[in-house]
Amino acid sequence: MAGHVRDRLMIEIDQRRDTLIETARDLIRIPTINPPGENYREICDHLAARLADAGFSASFVRANGAFGDSDRYPRWNVICRHDGAGSGDCVHFNAHTDVVTVGKGWTRDPFAATVEGDRIYGRGACDMKGGLASAIIAAEAFIATCPDYRGAIEISGTADEETGGFGGVAHLAEQGWFDPSRVQHVIIPEPLNKDRICLGHRGVWWAEIETEGRIAHGSMPFLGDCAVRHMGAVIAEMEASLFPALAVRRTDMPVVPDGARQSTLNVNSIHGGLAEPEDGYTGLPSACVPDRCVITIDRRFLVEEDIDEVKAEIDSLMQRVAATRPGFRYEIRDLFEVQPVMTAETAPVVTTVREAIREVMAVDPEMVLSPGTYDQKHIDRIGRLQNCIAYGPGLLELAHQPDEWIGIGDMMDSARVMAVSLARLLGET
Ligand SMILES: [Zn+2]
Repeated sequence: MAGHVRDRLMIEIDQRRDTLIETARDLIRIPTINPPGENYREICDHLAARLADAGFSASFVRANGAFGDSDRYPRWNVICRHDGAGSGDCVHFNAHTDVVTVGKGWTRDPFAATVEGDRIYGRGACDMKGGLASAIIAAEAFIATCPDYRGAIEISGTADEETGGFGGVAHLAEQGWFDPSRVQHVIIPEPLNKDRICLGHRGVWWAEIETEGRIAHGSMPFLGDCAVRHMGAVIAEMEASLFPALAVRRTDMPVVPDGARQSTLNVNSIHGGLAEPEDGYTGLPSACVPDRCVITIDRRFLVEEDIDEVKAEIDSLMQRVAATRPGFRYEIRDLFEVQPVMTAETAPVVTTVREAIREVMAVDPEMVLSPGTYDQKHIDRIGRLQNCIAYGPGLLELAHQPDEWIGIGDMMDSARVMAVSLARLLGET
């Protein structure tokens, strides 16, 4: 791109360093903890007012009736838009506004947004209010540099990413907000590190597996049928045959960290027999053979795998166990599934951000995939827009941790990359 445009952008970003810090701090100070989904309207109002100063108009969308939406905890989203001087593409920055619970182990106030050296501490600093602040500053610097640009810039703050995104991006995609006729490029500033481009994620299948038994007196277990022992046999079979098979099923998808570059399965929970006693109960348990045991599994699969085969693999495992255990009965219930998502490396948003990273940081960015899913799935599947990436500041490993922080220098570098990307997509002939 023209050297004078780039130089002007860098000056505009440098001048906004203090504004960037305050923008991030203001966002962190609004405690948008999800679940249950607090203060969505407050943060949407804040974003709308903050971006009105830069000439953006705001649309508020509540996901009425979506999972989690209620009058007490309404799922509010905001889409802020700035139109250039002529027609052209729309570049959309999408950030989820929700943060996960605080958890234990903090040594700072999680919502004070304390600045220490190059770091701002707080829940959501890294995931992903720092990235949202970078996008805001990038847009403002670009508009100041190229006021006559062609096209449009959108910045959205959306609900519920941490709980599946159904009250956020999924709802907006269903309403047509991510239709390729109105949005052409999407950048999600999730914390994937400032010199990496995230193209997508592995697939997900969550399911419950239940083994059935028959209740009887615990002193005469031979009169009943123990559902927990049946489940023990299921887990033993997983250890013997399934986990080793998944471990060698490597993928060509560049998933990071390396341990996630294969199929994985987690047993999220196990429950069987008597319920846990309530706090304060001082008695003993009763003597019963468990008639029911349930595990929840979280299976992450690869583009090379088919979801029907993923499910069939578990079913055949259950049938192998059944063949060795008389009276073994089981049920598998689907809870949730997401197909793998991977934007092509040749997509315009990928090549543009890659060039911008080279230009700003003089490094060739690594192309990665996320170990877990994020809102790109809804933009891809419901919105049918394949020109979407995650790119933003922050260390992936810090997300959801105590003493989460975002680097100010990293936010500045990402803002530079985003501003150069805007200039490449909207500003040059
Ligand atoms: Zn996130």
